[in-house]
Amino acid sequence: MTDDIRKAFPILQETINGHPLIYMDNAATTQKPRQVIDAISRYYLHQNANVHRGVHTLSQKATDLFEASREEVRSFLNAPSTEEIIFVRGVTEGINLIAASFGRSQLNAGDEIILSGMEHHANIVPWQMLARELKFSIKVIPFNDRGELDLEAYQEAFSPRTRLVGVVHVSNVLGTVNPVKEMTAIAHEHGVPILVDGAQAIAHEKVDLQDLDCDMYVVSGHKAYAPTGIGALYVKKKHLESWPPYHGGGEMIEEVAFGKYPTFASLPYRFEAGTPHMSGVVGFAEALRFIRNTGYDVIQAHEQKLLEHGRRQLSAIPGLTFYGDAERKTSIFSFLIKGIHPLDIGSFLDARGIAVRTGHHCAQPVMQRYGIPGTARASLTIYNTTDEVDYLAESLRDLVKLFT
Ligand code: PMP
Repeated sequence: MTDDIRKAFPILQETINGHPLIYMDNAATTQKPRQVIDAISRYYLHQNANVHRGVHTLSQKATDLFEASREEVRSFLNAPSTEEIIFVRGVTEGINLIAASFGRSQLNAGDEIILSGMEHHANIVPWQMLARELKFSIKVIPFNDRGELDLEAYQEAFSPRTRLVGVVHVSNVLGTVNPVKEMTAIAHEHGVPILVDGAQAIAHEKVDLQDLDCDMYVVSGHKAYAPTGIGALYVKKKHLESWPPYHGGGEMIEEVAFGKYPTFASLPYRFEAGTPHMSGVVGFAEALRFIRNTGYDVIQAHEQKLLEHGRRQLSAIPGLTFYGDAERKTSIFSFLIKGIHPLDIGSFLDARGIAVRTGHHCAQPVMQRYGIPGTARASLTIYNTTDEVDYLAESLRDLVKLFT
């Protein structure tokens, strides 16, 4: 099975520093299957024209493809309506859109929002920038040593001034799968909307938005086999209808004249100013078809096997400490080895063709929580193998020997 999946990813044939590429930096971005690369080529070879504008046939074809891709995203996430699916560049833009539109229009001095302590900077910084301006405050849900959120502290964080909860579905450092359905129910008991950052989720976890019932959900295509620069923001229509537009420009208006305020297009177009990333959208839809055809049962069974295998192999390395050991987690290993700087771990592995990430992973508060400057992170996905994990472990053992 894994062989067939590996064959679908041409880049896995590359050699790096004289060694076969072992790509374990999937939380940063995944590789792309041939069908996604082909869909993008096909788009430029046969289908390219600007969407929503032309009467000409090619433009209509491109528009149909673009809107069919939106429907693919809707059905993949089981969102109620395509009116609630806004194409954005990724999670960063999606959250900035929420902050600029909802945040700026509905948050006031003295209000509060709740964020988890394991957020990526993308779900911290936009709120901190706005909080300074509007003078609302940010409460933080702590997490335990294993990397699990403290749900009691979460419950206690609500006050009559709470206006929003923001939580990451799957932590990009710890791999923790947060109980976002339960957290949504709790937020709703307090009448508060909840935003879920799904950047690390959709490659690994089935997301059913009607079941989750969260108010906003945002994804980056490139972390789930799609190209960079494309993602989707889901917002419940009941919220979106009252939000002011984010970017102004072409495509998002109904009528523009000098001397009066413009009127805006219907949903979701009101939130999609300018020419969109059309080939990206097409590639995104194809990547979702790849996940759908592979099946989450297959994906999860494989990745959980990698997780178990990796835990066993890596925990035998002298001096290695894991960060993130939640009951429910994806196949991410964040670790440090006593006496060895994470950068040295990364460079040593790179020389053997193994790509891992080192540093704070854009989640500095997580590092502060553990009192560490950073970690080495091996993030595995559907095309990684237990043999690769063995080679990682063997290489780390060699590294430890070198240092002792
Ligand atoms: N949230 C999480 C949990 C992430 O892992 C990332 C990417 N590292 C982001 C947000 C930001 O995503 P993007 O860079 O695609 O906007």
